[in-house]
Amino acid sequence: MQVRYRYRLYPSPAQEQALARAFGCARVVFNDCLRLRDQCHAGGEKISDTEVQRRVVTVAKLTPQRAWLAEVSSVVLVQACRDARRAYRNWFDSLGGTRKGRKAGHPRFRRKHGRQSVRLTRNGFALHGRKLYVAKVGGIEVRWSRELPSVPSSVTVIREPDGRYYASFVVEREAAPFPPCDRETGIDVGLASLAVTSGGQVIANPRFLRSAERRLKAAQRVMSRKQNGSANRAKARRRVAVLHRKVRDARLDYAHKTALRLVRDNQAVYAEDIAVSGLARTRLAKSVHDAGWSQLLRLIEEKAARHGRYFARIGRFEPTSQVCSACGTKDGPQPLHIRQWTCGTCGTVHDRDVNAARNILAAGRADRLNACRGGARPPLAVAAASETGTHRNAALAALEESRHPRRGGRQRKDAVVSCVVLSSARRFRAWARTARRAR
Ligand SMILES: [Zn+2]
Repeated sequence: MQVRYRYRLYPSPAQEQALARAFGCARVVFNDCLRLRDQCHAGGEKISDTEVQRRVVTVAKLTPQRAWLAEVSSVVLVQACRDARRAYRNWFDSLGGTRKGRKAGHPRFRRKHGRQSVRLTRNGFALHGRKLYVAKVGGIEVRWSRELPSVPSSVTVIREPDGRYYASFVVEREAAPFPPCDRETGIDVGLASLAVTSGGQVIANPRFLRSAERRLKAAQRVMSRKQNGSANRAKARRRVAVLHRKVRDARLDYAHKTALRLVRDNQAVYAEDIAVSGLARTRLAKSVHDAGWSQLLRLIEEKAARHGRYFARIGRFEPTSQVCSACGTKDGPQPLHIRQWTCGTCGTVHDRDVNAARNILAAGRADRLNACRGGARPPLAVAAASETGTHRNAALAALEESRHPRRGGRQRKDAVVSCVVLSSARRFRAWARTARRAR
């Protein structure tokens, strides 16, 4: 299994300059590749990958405008060509429908500011002693926070906007299966708590961005008052980047620990397949991004694969919160302020989220059994469009936000009930607007 291992780098001032040159050249070559491909595409001309590389690197080096490309390692330039080719191909495959997942747009041109990186294959770097040797840069000091599990096949040298340097190695790592256990769990992700398991365990949502927001706001205000292009502005920008990095790191750390705990304690983990991109276009965008659901699910998936556990996402339109997990009766949409309800048929008292998690577990198990037998499962009762997971979570969070004392909101039960019948993010936004006006 191929994974990435990341270490902090400490280049000397001279090496920083050499790296800056490499970043710049890689960016220019990448952008030249895109431009050339765009030109050929517009002119209806077919151009081969080797021809692109020849024109953008080999021929360009001979011209006075691009002569400085010779100052950096050719490995860096060749990899930039490959990256551009990959990005272009993704876009084409996406247009042709041969690429899975979300639509990829036209590749973006690389920018001079922000995160910078160069990719190096085996002939562009070496590990001698405790240093990382990069072609035409030299031996860079590395902080080896852990041992590399195998000889790396490639490395990406990164400069983050906060001024830190990292090396990200691609290495082959053996699977490390955990001893088998017989527990399985379904998880229901949300905003009030990051996740609730079918066993009733609540995983808190620490809201890292929300807690750093005041400091971030202050730092951004300081930055906006500095003169454009001044040294003080650069300093203030770094300060903002540092705060963002802290939020990001804390969130990632928390997600790693949560994911590992879930994978270690359960033989199989099931989760709802949520449409984050849709939700992230609503008023809840910040909270949704701050929760980092996709990151958490991705880590669970990776760790499950590494430790010999099973992870699956269940369909987006299972009616997880309408069905009684004890007897299977579908009760219809539940108003969101009802956190607990009693099943009319069997009399079981349910916590809303735990019930949803239990339904996810049941759906996941059924899917898995069917995958083994190769048969098709008749779908569960079809959920009303209004009560699918995403909008339920959105409305739930809206409720919570409206209750948030600092924002001066008050409980709006009627608004929340009407929220349940919404069927799209667009209507949700319309509702949010009218609710604001009514207040
Ligand atoms: Zn029941």
